[in-house]
Amino acid sequence: MGIGALSGVNQSSKSIYIDYKGKIHKVIFSRNSSNEELQYLVKTALKTNKCAQIILKDSDENCIQLSPSIPINPISNPYKVEFLDLSSQNGIENKNNDDTKTPQEFLAQVVKEFSKAIKFEDSKKELMDRITNLENRIDGSRMESLKAIEVEKCRKEVKDLREMFQKASLPKQEDRTKKQIMENIPNYQKYQLSQETIQYLKTPTFNIWHWEANEMLTLIEHMYHELGLVREFNINPTTLKRWLLCIQANYRNNPFHNFRHCFCVAQMMYGMIHLCNLQSCMTKIEIATLITAAICHDLDHPGYNNAYQINARTELAIRYNDISPLENHHCAVAFQILSNPACNIFFNASDETFKEIRGNMVKLILATDMAKHKEILAELEEYVASFDFKNKDHMNALKMILIKCCDISNEVRPMEISEPWLDCLLEEYFNQSDREKEEGLPVAPFMDREKVTKPGAQVGFIKFVLIPMFEAVAKIFPIVQETMVTTLYQSYNRYSQLIEAEKKDKK
Ligand SMILES: [Zn+2]
Repeated sequence: MGIGALSGVNQSSKSIYIDYKGKIHKVIFSRNSSNEELQYLVKTALKTNKCAQIILKDSDENCIQLSPSIPINPISNPYKVEFLDLSSQNGIENKNNDDTKTPQEFLAQVVKEFSKAIKFEDSKKELMDRITNLENRIDGSRMESLKAIEVEKCRKEVKDLREMFQKASLPKQEDRTKKQIMENIPNYQKYQLSQETIQYLKTPTFNIWHWEANEMLTLIEHMYHELGLVREFNINPTTLKRWLLCIQANYRNNPFHNFRHCFCVAQMMYGMIHLCNLQSCMTKIEIATLITAAICHDLDHPGYNNAYQINARTELAIRYNDISPLENHHCAVAFQILSNPACNIFFNASDETFKEIRGNMVKLILATDMAKHKEILAELEEYVASFDFKNKDHMNALKMILIKCCDISNEVRPMEISEPWLDCLLEEYFNQSDREKEEGLPVAPFMDREKVTKPGAQVGFIKFVLIPMFEAVAKIFPIVQETMVTTLYQSYNRYSQLIEAEKKDKK
């Protein structure tokens, strides 16, 4: 829905009061508008053209997320406006008025910070910047007023600090993942989620397009708290944030296999945990494995599928001997991230628990390779008639199917949510097939822009892959039939009609 539709007042609209520079503004918006539209609308109402993002705060100074689900407020209690300078989001806040201190005070502070940094690796970059700053000042004209002997003393201390610091640094490991871990400080804006959003998050109709990256991070963070995983595994809340930032940084900006896809799969898993009441038939370790595997399942996806990896004989295909190269890679990246204590959400879990989570996560992520689809579905179908929640084989098959369902669950969502995903997927497919043509590699017909149509791409997939798989799950959890399978049939019928219409047009 466009901005033009936001001005009318009707049942689908909402209004909030905002205090900006002492003046109260009433902003009316549609419940269907996106967060970007809301940002634009509020900026227009406040007559500000700042590029910075708007953040609202309530009277208790809590950040209130500017989204269609924002709680309405009375005119007597308006939200206050703040602007988030995006340029300061990526770095460490480093505005400590160093310029106003004497060099001695400055150095004393550096020494204090340094002792902290040995304990807390997060401060290292900040400390390094300060040492450099101090060195520059020693060399600069502002030191003229100091006696030469004091300057020399400062120089020596800085030199010692620098050496100590380098010794305390981690061994040089230049791989991409580790580097990003060190650079990522958990500094994303924490949004207070409304009750409406918290409930909505548990449903398969949740609109995954309405959220920006930091909001998706907050929503996933909420899932870990709400599922009781933070308490169960004694997860350090800062580690959870840092881990999530690292996960986000290790998803590439592909048209389809990007961080939003990760969020979608995690959200659908969260929805299914609630819909099927999985917490009553699974342990916390199993729940943690399901949601964490969903989040990690496409880490560092390069945007070209296994067939390309194998045909082009890429490094990944060579490393994994053509056996699920991508899924093996996603899984390896997941555990590379967890191998850093600063990002290990299971740091406080026992070795035994970690081993169990690891073993199961590997199984689940490897199960997302569609080449194994038939085999995995056949196994579950064998069990459904006498499904036993205490049988390990039955449960393993179920968990593999659950992550597979979530991975390819877009068509389970309402049409206006699922359809844009199809465009994203085809864009990624066409990129691949164009490259395959250029490189003289085999091209799969379902990826070829000259052979594919949108309805054509979906009917077979829904009929032969999605419906049988969700129906198998529905035999164990009947609620899946009415909430998910029904939507799949609707989607199938819609695409079938489009194909019929296409045929008529050709005649
Ligand atoms: Zn995926």
